[in-house]
Amino acid sequence: MSLGEFSLIKKYFHRHYDNDSVRLGVGDDCALVRVSREANLCQALSMDTLVAGVHFPVDTNPADIAYKSLAVNLSDLAAMGATPAWFSLALTMPEAKDDWLTQFSVGLFELADEYRLPLVGGDVTKGPLSITIQIAGEVSEELALRRDGANEGDCIFVSGSLGDAAAGLSLLMNSASHSESQQFDCTEYLKGRLNRPLPRVALGQSLLSIATSCIDVSDGLLADLSSICDRSHLGAEISFDRIPVSEDLANFFEKQQLDELARAQLMLSCGDDYELCFTVPVSRAEAIRIISDKVGVRLTLIGKMKCEPSVVCVSASGQVLNLKENGFQHF
Ligand code: ADP
Ligand code: MG
Repeated sequence: MSLGEFSLIKKYFHRHYDNDSVRLGVGDDCALVRVSREANLCQALSMDTLVAGVHFPVDTNPADIAYKSLAVNLSDLAAMGATPAWFSLALTMPEAKDDWLTQFSVGLFELADEYRLPLVGGDVTKGPLSITIQIAGEVSEELALRRDGANEGDCIFVSGSLGDAAAGLSLLMNSASHSESQQFDCTEYLKGRLNRPLPRVALGQSLLSIATSCIDVSDGLLADLSSICDRSHLGAEISFDRIPVSEDLANFFEKQQLDELARAQLMLSCGDDYELCFTVPVSRAEAIRIISDKVGVRLTLIGKMKCEPSVVCVSASGQVLNLKENGFQHF
């Protein structure tokens, strides 16, 4: 049997060296590397690759491919509460077409401009289409949001709404089998959530000193919340009827007539949401409403951290939902 993605990383690439400047290594959304011995300021570093046919359908428009490649990296900085500093780009493509590259660079700089984020270098090679971005941000070592800081009894929050991107992908994949009217109502919004995720950078920064742990939801809420649980040596209980649903996704569910289990599967296990899931002590939960107003992002209380080591999702009728997959893994 092949090793899972995380076991593979642990077995072959997780080595520990005594090195004072590495404050946090493999296993979180970013590594934290100290810039100077005096200051406690760290560089937050992350790298993500998007491969054609794996992370996006091959016919995705080049501006969206570029936008998403940078957005998912910014999302890892957001999960640490870091301020974006710079990025580099390794682009592998089968051929260098002017029109394709024009669109790609427009999408890339649309988002980079928003954060005044300089592209400082990279690599261009010929091969199957794949985009790798390395990103760096800055955050104080003490305040950085990590996966390992949650405590028993902490409230679990999630930003925005979940499942939109998964529904967008389903609509793209099955476009031939959806009727005109199904396409009309909710398609554009849901596909937009797939192609242009909104990295929650301002929210992450606002959570410094408030949240005890944080992760961005890239693989599916259950899998990503499990990472917080593993790293914090705890478990979690969430209520399915509290998971925030967008109006367009509710519309999609109605049209598709999906039952509760199928809806839960799509919202909790499919990923590509790039929302933040974070924990907050009960005593600080009130601050979340103020932060939500300040950054203009919906923040929803979905459950509590428990000492039993597993993630349990309870249905509206109080039953434990047994979901088939626990998130996306490459291997
Ligand atoms: P994310 O989804 O935020 O990118 P994951 O939850 O997938 O991160 O966790 C993977 C962890 O393993 C991250 O800390 C990442 O930096 C690390 N990692 C991934 N691939 C490698 C590799 N080839 N060598 C070392 N560390 C790796
Ligand atoms: Mg991440």
